[in-house]
Amino acid sequence: MAFLDPKRTVAELKDLRRFTADENGAQRVAFTKTWVATRAWLRKKLEALPVEVHVDEAGNLWATMRGESERALLIGGHMDSVPNGGWLDGCLNVMAGVEILRRLNEQYKGRPPVTVRLVDWADEEGARFGKSLFGSSACSGSLNMAEARGLKDKDGVALPDALKAIGVDFERVKECGKELKDAAAYLELHIEQGPVLLDLNLPLGAVLGTFGVERHAITFHGQAAHSGSTPMNRRRDAFLAAAKMSLEIYRIAERSGGGGVCTIGSCTTKPGIVTSVVEDCRITLDQRHLDAAALATMLREAKEASERFAREGNVTVAWERLWQIEPRPFHPELIELCAAAIKETCGVSHRLPSGPLHDAAEPCGAGVPTVMMFVQSLHGISHNKIEDTKEEHLEACVVAFDRLVEKTLRWISAAE
Ligand SMILES: [Zn+2]
Repeated sequence: MAFLDPKRTVAELKDLRRFTADENGAQRVAFTKTWVATRAWLRKKLEALPVEVHVDEAGNLWATMRGESERALLIGGHMDSVPNGGWLDGCLNVMAGVEILRRLNEQYKGRPPVTVRLVDWADEEGARFGKSLFGSSACSGSLNMAEARGLKDKDGVALPDALKAIGVDFERVKECGKELKDAAAYLELHIEQGPVLLDLNLPLGAVLGTFGVERHAITFHGQAAHSGSTPMNRRRDAFLAAAKMSLEIYRIAERSGGGGVCTIGSCTTKPGIVTSVVEDCRITLDQRHLDAAALATMLREAKEASERFAREGNVTVAWERLWQIEPRPFHPELIELCAAAIKETCGVSHRLPSGPLHDAAEPCGAGVPTVMMFVQSLHGISHNKIEDTKEEHLEACVVAFDRLVEKTLRWISAAE
């Protein structure tokens, strides 16, 4: 590993912060001037390496180091941030990838055993148009064109027009799917953005996959009635039924084996005045689990409970699906390689699922063997200027991720 310089990655991330952040945090929002400047800075770093750089039809930037084999190992990340974001989310992944390309160049004289490609996905955050994973979902083919065509930012600018301004033809974005043609594996390093590794006092973790999500609106319908004249036993109280759901989702999550989470994130009542029994109560329910069958059970149990509470209170209940995505379990052999790389670097390894979605879910969904590595987040916080990770952990993650790259190169070669 003599060629790898993890301290350089930390120094480069600090340089990047210097010219892309203000007193409120990182401002590398996709397709803005600062993001364009970030890309130019990244290209300068890549110019020093024997890599071919091009931007695909969806605006994703690829740096390709040709190897002995056409089969390619992909390393992914995103230089864009949310407005007032942190200094590590997304760009740590890319800059660790640049350092690893430097190491491969030195060690293999510019020609590693398999082709290695670094990708900076366009608009991972979806901060401007409210649609995450734009570039990677165009590449995997899962992007819903009709929906994306209609997206507008807060100034009324349509996504296709914003893309035209940076030279991307919206109608052709899915043509970049060809970039995955020779992909043999996809690896992504990321800050955890949550408190799990922090609470365990561990620097690094191997990620098992991204959660599946079921998101629904549940509306209970009863009868508005005078709060003074209606005896308690005569009420058809929509809020009472909804309130029982609040306790029930904790039991449902507990029964899921501890791996699931359920959240009632909003509650609105009608008529919503202090002198009336609630006629309509609408709550939203977000359920997540790494296992598809467990997620389906959590959803079924929530539906059964809502019907039971509706019966008990003499009200009705209706469900409406708002959004859904399948769990994306990562490749079992790559999870093993990731855990081994972590163990060699810091002696102990932990496995955990990812609650947030990441670009890695897209190549994974398109059938490319995928794994992610997480590094601890201080405060367990991200999408905030206080987002941070200890420098010793940043250096350790570059070392461990480099080991994972080397193991995966050999894994791809062995399969040929
Ligand atoms: Zn990210």
